[in-house]
Amino acid sequence: MVRAIDGRRKMKGVLEALRRMYGPRPWQCWGRGVDILVETILSQNTSNANSSAGFRRLRRRFRSWNQVMNAAVEEVEKCIRISGLSRVKAPRIQSILRQIKADQGRIDLEFLKERAAEDAYEYLMRFDGVGPKTANCVLLFSFGMPVFPVDTHIHRIAIRLGLIPEGSSAEEAHELLKEMIEPGDRYEMHILLVEHGRRTCKARSPACERCELVAMCPYGAGRTGR
Ligand code: SF4
Repeated sequence: MVRAIDGRRKMKGVLEALRRMYGPRPWQCWGRGVDILVETILSQNTSNANSSAGFRRLRRRFRSWNQVMNAAVEEVEKCIRISGLSRVKAPRIQSILRQIKADQGRIDLEFLKERAAEDAYEYLMRFDGVGPKTANCVLLFSFGMPVFPVDTHIHRIAIRLGLIPEGSSAEEAHELLKEMIEPGDRYEMHILLVEHGRRTCKARSPACERCELVAMCPYGAGRTGR
């Protein structure tokens, strides 16, 4: 594994190479906090297409989060079946909505905007089914906080690049990688690494021969002999 200071230098190079490959990605707000939270829970252990389809069905069937909270769990489950693990995700989503309502008097997370990132993170991590990736996605995509969610693509690429040790946990990966990336670059780095994982550095057969990161990648160097 690289030292933090070397990691920061290396990450700068990674970001420049990814921008050349896929183009820059300026920060955008993806939606309100509750929407992003539910969408991210739906995305756990499934593809993007299936999680988005489940979210769209849920929003078409129910006009508000209050209605989702009060619906029969089987109804919610039916809407999100396409997103997988619906028997786990449906009661989980309803329970989170109930807790937010009990805490805030309404189902809204916008109050987190006023909190420090660490406090907002701790608030979200209290919910069953919310781990570091989900909490950080809400903070980054809804509130523009300088956090760094690590999904399976990013975790795999970081190990291949030698930035974090093989076998590091999700929590360790979040801690180590965040410190290697300038706060203002974290959104763009997240988006570009996920895209890189989907298009080039796939779990099986990564396309190292056409990857601009190969010169700084021990795994790629081993595969290409460069
Ligand atoms: S060189 Fe290969 S393993 Fe390394 S980042 Fe590129 S695609 Fe992934």
